Amino acid sequence: MDFTGKKALITGSGGGIGKSIALLLADMGADIVVNDVSIENAQQTAKKIISKGRKALVSNANVVHDVQVKKMFESISQNFGRIDILVNNAGITKDSLLMDMKEEQWDQVMDVNLKGVFLCCQYAARMMSEQQYGKIINISSASGQMGNIGQVNYAASKGGVISITKTLAKELARYQINVNAVAPGFIRTPMTQTVPEKVEKYIIGQIPLKRMGEPEEIANAVAFLASDNSAYITGQVLSVNGGMYV
Ligand code: NAD
Repeated sequence: MDFTGKKALITGSGGGIGKSIALLLADMGADIVVNDVSIENAQQTAKKIISKGRKALVSNANVVHDVQVKKMFESISQNFGRIDILVNNAGITKDSLLMDMKEEQWDQVMDVNLKGVFLCCQYAARMMSEQQYGKIINISSASGQMGNIGQVNYAASKGGVISITKTLAKELARYQINVNAVAPGFIRTPMTQTVPEKVEKYIIGQIPLKRMGEPEEIANAVAFLASDNSAYITGQVLSVNGGMYV
């Protein structure tokens, strides 16, 4: 796969899965917009991309806010002139059992995981439709496919990401924009670092491949969907989960 000359925005690419995606696409030739609310982490990812000989544009836009997302896309337009690939990766968890969950836990997760995807898709689609070319990859989750105790907010948001993906695949196909989702299972990142050892062991026991996934394994799936090798694939959910949900 060769992304030479392509411009890719990966939200939440200051760490975890997003960082792996950014570095892999840069290895394959793409220039990268590194977005993260943590400017320090975004700058660290950007440094690595530049050391690979690629261009990196840093944005600390919070994807929840329309004004900040608009500014990020204006900067992309000025600096890169186009956007070929959007990976909606920024996401958060605020876990709690239903009966204890606070309204703000629900709202915060919906804001980042759903509204953030909506806003980035909207601005990207405006640029991509002009170009008659684009690849949008939304990061969902096995929780959104199968449900998960303590994650009514997160599972609902990630199920919503699948619905956004299917709808935009139909809506944007006329502009030669492919829209797909990747649904990771249980992946070793800062997000899952706080899972207690006992729970981690239990989850791994439920996974047919009997291990956690690595961020690079999600990046490989994203790269395929961002490439022209998947030109006839749109509106699909690619599960990368060790068989956790089949
Ligand atoms: P992570 O917490 O390690 O990284 C997420 C990054 O997004 C962080 O750098 C964070 O600063 C950034 N971010 C958070 N809110 C943001 C916002 N409003 N605007 C911009 N950036 C923001 O998480 P991760 O494990 O790398 O997860 C990446 C994606 O994969 C998320 O959408 C997550 O839901 C999904 N996912 C992860 C797993 C897993 O097991 N780790 C499983 C399924 C799905």
